Amino acid sequence: MFFIDRDPILAFRLLLLFILTYLVILLIKVWFSSSRKEHLRWPQERDDKGEEMVLDPQCQSYLARNEAIFSHGYYFCSEECARIFVRRIERGYSEKS
Ligand SMILES: [Zn+2]
Repeated sequence: MFFIDRDPILAFRLLLLFILTYLVILLIKVWFSSSRKEHLRWPQERDDKGEEMVLDPQCQSYLARNEAIFSHGYYFCSEECARIFVRRIERGYSEKS
């Protein structure tokens, strides 16, 4: 490259331009990979918010809150679980008193 000896400033500028281009490509790569990760993370977060897991105190199983039956301040997987649990509580109260 003949111009390096004649014009070292131009050579330096070209080098700087090369480094800058490389950095821009690197940044684009990082940006794309991070946005792709967000894309993968997004639906999972939405699922967590939309389907909050609750514990059925009767059968000790986790289920989505929008599928659960809410009764007596607890979430149950079925009406049968709710009935058994409520009966158990009532029995517990009567045993105590
Ligand atoms: Zn249950």
